[in-house]
Amino acid sequence: MKNYCYLYGPVPSRRLGRSLGIDLVPHKACTYDCIYCQIGKTTWKTMERKEYVPVQDLIEEIERFLRDETSSPDYLSLSGSGEPTLHSKIGEIIQAIKKRTSIPVAVLTNGSLLFMEEVREDLRNADVVLPSLDAVTEGVFLKVNRPFPLFSVEQVIQGLIQFRKSYGGQIWLEILFCKGVNDSPEEILRMREVIDRIQPDQIHLNTVVRPPSEKWASPLNQEEMEKIKDLFGKKASIISGFDRHPVSLEKGDSKEMILKILRRRPLSLSDLLKGIKIPPEILKGSLEALIEERKIRKEIFKGETYYELSEEG
Ligand code: SF4
Repeated sequence: MKNYCYLYGPVPSRRLGRSLGIDLVPHKACTYDCIYCQIGKTTWKTMERKEYVPVQDLIEEIERFLRDETSSPDYLSLSGSGEPTLHSKIGEIIQAIKKRTSIPVAVLTNGSLLFMEEVREDLRNADVVLPSLDAVTEGVFLKVNRPFPLFSVEQVIQGLIQFRKSYGGQIWLEILFCKGVNDSPEEILRMREVIDRIQPDQIHLNTVVRPPSEKWASPLNQEEMEKIKDLFGKKASIISGFDRHPVSLEKGDSKEMILKILRRRPLSLSDLLKGIKIPPEILKGSLEALIEERKIRKEIFKGETYYELSEEG
């Protein structure tokens, strides 16, 4: 799959099978700056909705993909390098996709803009919406999600409740836990009450499994995650390892391609080997060369080596 600006993958996703990613905003425009974010710090924190990428160009790429590519994804996923509902024409984009293919559309969102009626309306035609909600009290919300100043957690919760009332598709709510930040018994108890009001179809529990934006953001262990899952009941499952903002590599071995993909977020050698279609020795050689050139560097996180851009990269 070559020469696409806004499409990437299909990438294997625990929740969505083979998922073709569609990037609606540039890296990294978001309403939040989550401490655990895998794609780096938010450089453009905003709640301004606008046409971040040109709709016409995006639709042409989707048409080209559907016409030329032999791989058929399980989902077309609006996610990528930031918060997709910031794109003011996301509703138009979903409708355009639905007219061209029967492949279901998923939206991976932090849910922060669902308090706006027009955003709820825009997502009406998506087949599945995967919002996140990592906190239900204001102090914890500020600590874990570091939102744009005008947000309050109550507004976000109300947006999710309103969305559930009007939306007929599947809502899979994700909660990502960071040790000592949003995992207190009180917060979890309140989360349960809030989730009862939101009524999602599924609850996906996650923790920090890749290098986070803030090095001090730490994961819960399996036992702690299991305990939380039991508290949330039958709809809950643990999905640690799921990428909210997945990336993929494509054919080719150029160092430019590695740099381009690492610009999205750090990746381990096994991530790179899964996605890139070149022999491991050649890939390792390119990585070593980039380290020597000081364009990338290694970082160890929870015993695994990740590659990330260096300051010069
Ligand atoms: S995890 Fe998603 S919502 Fe949080 S800062 Fe990163 S891009 Fe934004």
